[in-house]
Formats: sequence, structure tokens, C-alpha cells
Amino acid sequence: MFFSEVIGQEFVKRSLIKSVKNNRVSHAQLFLGPEGSGNLAMAIAFAQYISCEAKREDDSCGECPSCVKYKNIAHPDLHFIFPVATNKEVTKNPRSDLFMEQWRTAIVENPYMSLGQWHRHLGIENKQAIINADDCNEIVKKLSLKTFESEYKVMIIWKAERLFHSAAPKLLKILEEPPSKTLFLLIAENSEQIIPTILSRTQIVRFKKLDHKSLAATLSSKFALEGDKLNYVVKMSTGNYTEALRLIDHSFIKEFNFVEFQKWMRLCFKRDIIKLIEWIDEVSKIGRERQKSFIEHALQMVRECLMINYGVGQLVVLTDEERKFANNFSPFINNNNCVAMTEALNKAYFNIGRNANIRILLLDLSISISEMLKKR
Ligand SMILES: [Zn+2]
Repeated sequence: MFFSEVIGQEFVKRSLIKSVKNNRVSHAQLFLGPEGSGNLAMAIAFAQYISCEAKREDDSCGECPSCVKYKNIAHPDLHFIFPVATNKEVTKNPRSDLFMEQWRTAIVENPYMSLGQWHRHLGIENKQAIINADDCNEIVKKLSLKTFESEYKVMIIWKAERLFHSAAPKLLKILEEPPSKTLFLLIAENSEQIIPTILSRTQIVRFKKLDHKSLAATLSSKFALEGDKLNYVVKMSTGNYTEALRLIDHSFIKEFNFVEFQKWMRLCFKRDIIKLIEWIDEVSKIGRERQKSFIEHALQMVRECLMINYGVGQLVVLTDEERKFANNFSPFINNNNCVAMTEALNKAYFNIGRNANIRILLLDLSISISEMLKKR
């Protein structure tokens, strides 16, 4: 995560960079800010900057071995603690370590994730995830190790409000007598819910809601939103990027995905290459995040058509319009093509994330799907 990828919050960025340059990094900081303000994103960018071996004037280099590991949130001196609970896979003694893969995937995808989204990601929607005592024992263990590669060890504690009371003494002790060259970054929304003794040992870095200008710039570059739609999302999300993503997901993108998927499948079926190329030109403009969301929608439609074919269409939650299309389209999805189609779409999703040339990717994919649709 680069500072440049953190939306707005310029004042905080500048003061963090200054603290590194002046060698005055306080060892325990609380990044306090409302949902969608980017305090977790900023903590990761700050940790990456501190560990970067070729710092630039106002950001990390992105190329040194440390930055490369940070790209996948997999640096051996970067540790995370976050709220967890038991789920299908982890049925007892949950602690952060056991969920690290899911955590990495979730925050690489969206470092502005809310606690609710994290609950859904873990499949624990009806439980309260907490940071428990086992996790704090892990902190002590991990921080007593020598650093592997960096000068600093960084421990990011997300949702410090969720620290279970019995876990506090361990954390408190290590905050009072921190091992040298260790940086604690606590991330929270509400300081009143943080155990006071912990709170008093941290330096508070305050995050405001995002300013409209930065939010609008991000939304227009990432999602190609403009005009009324852009203004609507900016206004309704009130400086909360998580909420902006929710709004986009729910309304515009859903509608776009549905309309364009129908168009796409018709063109593939007709093998109308000229119109397909025009369609690809349009879809190339919408930005990678939305292209990924579009492919996800396509995968969902393929799955749902298959369910309809198996006679379990009533399990499928679709709007009336979607159902109408799915009923017409489902005869074209069958045992002979659904696996290949799912694989092709998954591969496309993966390659979009890896900056593949989108025009070539969509053209190849369209041609393959044209072939597949002929298989009855
Ligand atoms: Zn670097």
C-alpha cells in the first residue's frame, strides 16, 4: 500500500512522513477515525514506508524487496491482530493467526473494509468477533523474536475496541515496556470503547471523514463515475469510502453489470465480432475494479442459470428482470460448457487483477464463450 493509494488525509500523511524523517516515530500510536476514513489503509502505507529501503520524498519506492513483500501484505516483520470468532473451519480457540490468509485476501481487496464486511468474509455474521487473550500471547511471542529483515517490527491491531478485557493486561505490559524498534499501530473508530489504560499509552492520530474532493477524484478514477452519479455517491456517502463502495455496488454497478452481461452474451451468441469489439471498447473504459465486478456478476449468472436447469431455480435470488433473462439464457448453460465457462471467467478475473491487456483479454474470452455457447 502506497501513501498515494490512501484517499485524502493529506495532513496525516505529511505528519507521519515527517515523523520518520525526523526520527521521531512514537512507538504506540492510535489511528482514530470514523468508518471509511482509511485509518487501516494509512497504517499499512505507513508501515510500508518505514520498512522501505529506498524511500522517496513522499512515498515508499514500491520496488525494494521490502515493498514487494508489502504488496501482498506478506512481510515477515509486519504482524496483524484483528477480531475473530469461530466459524466452519476454525471451531475452537480462534485467533488472528488462524485467519491470516483470509485477512490478507480481504485487505488486499479492500483496505477500507468494515467490521461487518469482515464478519461476512469469515462467515460469522451472527457472532461478535473479538480480540482475545490468545492473540495477546501471540503478540508477546512474535515481538520477542528478532526482526527478520527490517529495522522495525510493526504490529497493527485492527478494531482495538474489540480487545477483550482479559486480553488487556498482556498488551498493556508490552506497551509499557516495548521491545526496541517495535511499532504498535492501533486502529479504531471510537476511543470511548477502548480500555482507558491502553488508550493512555498511545499517541492519538486523528482521522477526519474524507473530504469530498479527494473522494470524488478516487471514485471517478477507479469507477469512471461522473456527473450526477458521482455527485450522488459523494453526497450520500458523507466522507465514508466504505459507504461509497456500498452505494456503488448496490445501485449503478449492479444495473450496469446486468445490462452489459445480456448485451455481451447476445453478441457472443451471434458471433458479431464488429459489435463485440465496440462493446469491448466501452467496457475497457470502466476501470479494473468494475471490470472485476462485471466478471463476478457473469460468474453468478452462469451459476444461477445452472441452478435453474437443475430445477432448483426457486433457490436463486433474482429480480424479476434478472429472472426473465436467466430463464431465457439458462438453456445455453449446460453440463458440457459450464465448467469451461466458469474456469474462463475465473481466469479472466484473476488476470484483470494482474493488469492484463483488457482488450485482448475480453476478445479472447468472448471468442471462447461464443464456442462454448454452441455446445448443447
Ligand atoms: Zn521500497
